[in-house]
Amino acid sequence: MQENEKEIQHYIFKFGGSCFKNAESFSRALKILQNYQQYKITIVCSAFMGVTDKLLELFDKRCNFEDAMSQVDDLKTYHETLIAEVIPKSSEMHKRALDYIQMWVERLGDALKRESGMCPETELKDYVLSLGERLSTFTFSCYLAAMKFPAQFLSSDEIIVTNAFFGSALPDLDKTAGKVQAKILPILQEGKAAIVTGYYGMTESGKITTLGRGGSDFSATIIAYCIEPKLSSKVIFWKDVDGLLSADPRIERRAKLLKHISYAEAKELAAFGTKILYPLCLITLERQGIPAEIRNFAKPNSQKFTEISNLIEKKKEIVKAITSLPDISMVTLESQAMVSLPGTAAKLFSLLGDNHVNIVFISQASSENNITFGVDRQDGHKTGELLRHSPHFGTHWFSVKIENDASLVAIIGAGMLHVPGVAGKLFSALGKHAINVRAITQGSSELNITVIIARDDLENAIHVLYETFIGNNGEE
Ligand code: ASP
Ligand code: MG
Repeated sequence: MQENEKEIQHYIFKFGGSCFKNAESFSRALKILQNYQQYKITIVCSAFMGVTDKLLELFDKRCNFEDAMSQVDDLKTYHETLIAEVIPKSSEMHKRALDYIQMWVERLGDALKRESGMCPETELKDYVLSLGERLSTFTFSCYLAAMKFPAQFLSSDEIIVTNAFFGSALPDLDKTAGKVQAKILPILQEGKAAIVTGYYGMTESGKITTLGRGGSDFSATIIAYCIEPKLSSKVIFWKDVDGLLSADPRIERRAKLLKHISYAEAKELAAFGTKILYPLCLITLERQGIPAEIRNFAKPNSQKFTEISNLIEKKKEIVKAITSLPDISMVTLESQAMVSLPGTAAKLFSLLGDNHVNIVFISQASSENNITFGVDRQDGHKTGELLRHSPHFGTHWFSVKIENDASLVAIIGAGMLHVPGVAGKLFSALGKHAINVRAITQGSSELNITVIIARDDLENAIHVLYETFIGNNGEE
């Protein structure tokens, strides 16, 4: 154990949808729990694989009630088949699980029929989407009961209090902490595991909200945050990969597993499109210094996993990982009228924000006569239209240039902090290989340097930067 490591009393396991495929994976999940039985355990589950997508699909079809209902039937059959496979018929839990599925499927049908057209669309949508986690988690809790593993089901609307941003709600951590402690601690004290639905919470006025796609990771860390003051905790995310890698292995063959990464570095990686962890998890973990691991569900005893903690390995390599977003539109807004005119950036970004265009990077030259920013390629055309038709930016004082063939590549590592010359090394390496840099940004965290290049140069740039900064020194 390292010096600053605390003694863990409580483990929070987050099982993703791919952990619940069939009888074999259910029993693997059970074995994992048994391995940690000397600790207090909270389990957070995602919906079964593909179920949230199916719920989304049937929600979109709700105008055609018959169609939607036939998909509801499919979902019901899907869960029933899995229950038949994993919970012995002889156990009373078999019927318990089936009755629960039946009850919620009826409620879903009723809600689609009664409320469509009446309640605001977003409210109904979150209610519908939350069903995947309800059904999977209850099913898993019945399985555990049938296997005589002591666990108690808890629906997260009873403990996670959120704002009313349907689809990407944020929890009120203070209010949530009170509820989590009041509901979960007694279960743990009784020697049982708490088994909690991921992905959703509830507003104070009693509406179900979802935390955002992939949000069950976030649920696990919210619970960890709330329990940590009472029981020192660790979160293990059981996934279908070993952990975080030093580059995209489809592009850079030398990409290696990162055995240890700090919260700050993991935040950068998550923000740059590494879809492995839900980005908001890292803030909740970091605030209370809760350690976490990403582990491969297929290889529970493997030593290959990523550990995330507040430890920053100073002596290690300067750059830990190279990450990229291949499909960026780079937008340049140019005008002499911007020089010393306060409020232009505010106007620009509220126009884009109001129209749900997400901005990936921003840079402004100190001459102040242009602002360059990047958006997802999908939003490139829409951004152009918004600017050209805007009463402010559409005038002849401004020119708008959009380049749809851009990519973003970033080097990430806490080792860069206060180390001079990293940017210089990056530019000379790219320059030597005739890779033209179109724009540069560095977050004030100094943990990443990001450059925008042509899409055609992306693969080459990743190889060059990997060779320059990581080479064969990455961890293994
Ligand atoms: N089931 C939700 C989704 O697919 C949440 C999660 O899996 O984390 O996005
Ligand atoms: Mg998921």
